[in-house]
Amino acid sequence: MARILIHICCAPCLAGSLLALEEVGEYKIEGLFYNPNIHPLDEFKRRQQSLKEYVSTMPEIKVHYIDYDPREYFRAIGEKFDPPYRCYSCWQLRLEKTAQFAKENNIPLFTSTLLVSPYQDQEKLKQLGELAGEKYGVEFIFSNFRRFYSRGRKIAKELNLYRQNYCGCIFSEWERYRKLSK
Ligand code: SF4
Repeated sequence: MARILIHICCAPCLAGSLLALEEVGEYKIEGLFYNPNIHPLDEFKRRQQSLKEYVSTMPEIKVHYIDYDPREYFRAIGEKFDPPYRCYSCWQLRLEKTAQFAKENNIPLFTSTLLVSPYQDQEKLKQLGELAGEKYGVEFIFSNFRRFYSRGRKIAKELNLYRQNYCGCIFSEWERYRKLSK
């Protein structure tokens, strides 16, 4: 069975992505929680803890956790404060780290739970994933995970997993709440 490393942004997106991966092929799955974009630290811990609770029910999936360092995110985006270029850099950072981790651990394939979100640009993710794969000599597995978004959310609700209200970065938090705070 081929090994695949999946970049995980949060537990609810993993739920949908696992359903999607089942359709794509038979894999031995490992996960990588690498999200220096998340703001603030408490939110990062909350999403990470929720993921830990979720995967504790799936001993067959090993998840690796990379320590939080928001400087990596801010270095990556530079002065690109607005979408879509801010998001492109954010995705590139996380996909490249996943590709690099896969290579270092002899995992030939990788993908991302970002593909399940209806809010992310799938074509751009595909392009960035393939470029990251080329850079590190591993293969990016692309499929339309979005079809499983609703089912993933339903599973998250049933399991009472934390479901965030904003994408992750400080800008997305501001964009989500600024109108409400007026
Ligand atoms: S909105 Fe989401 S994808 Fe875009 S930069 Fe912020 S955290 Fe990253």
